[in-house]
Amino acid sequence: MRVDILTTFPEMFGAGAGAALNSSIPSRARASGALEWYATNIRDYATDKHQKTDDRPFGGGPGMVMMCQPVWDAVNAVEAMDPRPATRVLLTPQGRRLTQGIVESLAAKPRLLLIAGHYEGIDERVIEALAPMELSIGDYVLSGGELAAMVLIDAAARLLPGVLGHEDSASQDSFSHVPTGAGTARLLDCPHYTKPRDWMGRSVPEVLLSGDHGAIARWRSEQRRSRTLERRPDLLATLPDPDNASSSG
Ligand code: SAM
Repeated sequence: MRVDILTTFPEMFGAGAGAALNSSIPSRARASGALEWYATNIRDYATDKHQKTDDRPFGGGPGMVMMCQPVWDAVNAVEAMDPRPATRVLLTPQGRRLTQGIVESLAAKPRLLLIAGHYEGIDERVIEALAPMELSIGDYVLSGGELAAMVLIDAAARLLPGVLGHEDSASQDSFSHVPTGAGTARLLDCPHYTKPRDWMGRSVPEVLLSGDHGAIARWRSEQRRSRTLERRPDLLATLPDPDNASSSG
């Protein structure tokens, strides 16, 4: 999968050791060839001699607005760099809330083009002309779309074939489809434990030490269900319609 990020702050995707996409699973995905990503500076496509990408809002008010032309030209130039069709995504707090279902569908695409806004956002006319999928990572306002783009790339990278060490580990995570009596649902994960068996007076649940794989599977399944009921009953409200999870994301 190829991901292009259009940004006015490409340094946020720099190669520094601390950069989110150059560590852990996203870095492994890139090294394996499952994921390639490129950050392009929208400023490189500004025609203004000062490489201006934003201007004051018509109608007055605070802040700056990203201009149509540099964004439009950057999208078209970057799309032309690869014949695979790109799914355009605009990161915006006004978009549809990102869910595991949306991440799964985007991870199956050959190519994504992520547009990160800044300041007050992007001139509405270029958004209309580009018609991207608009996605939000939550009901709060970031300074720019770069962190939101990284969140999306990280979540998608771990779903790419062969990226996670244990092929099953993504399918056990919270929000992945798990079978239920009524079909499948997106449940929270069960609790996890490791050595030592006793820590500060707290013991590991006995069943996990039993060696009885059937009992362990049943316990985990029950934990998923009870945790979901307690913490996220809205996820169980989708039962018994197995299609609901994908249609609601
Ligand atoms: N004036 C805009 C509004 O209230 O809808 C907020 C602009 S915000 C300061 C600047 C940029 O950050 C946005 O254009 C968007 O790309 C990004 N951004 C902010 N919050 C976001 C969120 N929750 N999800 C995704 N992107 C976000």
